[in-house]
Amino acid sequence: MTANSAVYRLRAPNPSVMTGEGTNTYFIFDGDIAFLIDPGPEIPEHSEAMLDALGDRTLKGILLTHMHPDHSPAANAIKAATNAPVYGIPPDPLDTIQDHSVTVDHTLGDGEILSLGSLTVEAVTTPGHTSNHLCFWLSSEQMVFTGDHIMQGSTVVIVPPFGDMQDYLSSLEKLKKYPLKSIAPAHGELIFSPVDEINRLVAHRRSRECKVVQGLENQGWISLEDLTTIVYADVHESLHGLASRSLHAHLIKLLKEGRVTEKATLWQLND
Ligand SMILES: [Zn+2]
Repeated sequence: MTANSAVYRLRAPNPSVMTGEGTNTYFIFDGDIAFLIDPGPEIPEHSEAMLDALGDRTLKGILLTHMHPDHSPAANAIKAATNAPVYGIPPDPLDTIQDHSVTVDHTLGDGEILSLGSLTVEAVTTPGHTSNHLCFWLSSEQMVFTGDHIMQGSTVVIVPPFGDMQDYLSSLEKLKKYPLKSIAPAHGELIFSPVDEINRLVAHRRSRECKVVQGLENQGWISLEDLTTIVYADVHESLHGLASRSLHAHLIKLLKEGRVTEKATLWQLND
């Protein structure tokens, strides 16, 4: 980056089990212009903090990784204050978990380049956590902003049908073609050994998938709930509701691969 450029992080005051210490909002500055990534939930003090951090610079774009309610709603307030256009991919109309209050002014395509002065930011489609998820590659810093595709300190939740485990694993591998030096997640701290972390995440999902297949062996037809208690025996019962959604995502992946069959909400391993 040039002497006038920088990446700056603000953390929204929305800590929870799902968001860790809160949602990370990132600015990319180049001289007197800026991009903003994931403005976060609509909390007046956070919007004020963003506008303070922007100062006299001109905001050239509000970039959204996806529209979960901890990522996008404040785009409305920031757009009203700055007139900056919103970039992203609108959520599926049937995806009621995502925020539909924000209008995307420019729908991004895979590999699309956004220029900010001397800098470029590349949109990288990374479906998996949601079908419309994007990461943003800042080549000058060899940094990728990963939203909820990769988080630090917690596991990404994949909820079907708009979350997809097969897509998620492909989207993890996809990031490895970039010469990554660091990952800037929407939750947690910067990650400085990106390829190791991606490999660890893939291995974690593969090992869980092995447990799913083992859990299905010799069971005959089994419900999601019963399989959850077998596959997630190592996870506290209070988290089994969440775990069953990830298990469902694993089963749909295995279904697509022809390795399991589903019949009236029961599942069976194919021979
Ligand atoms: Zn999310």
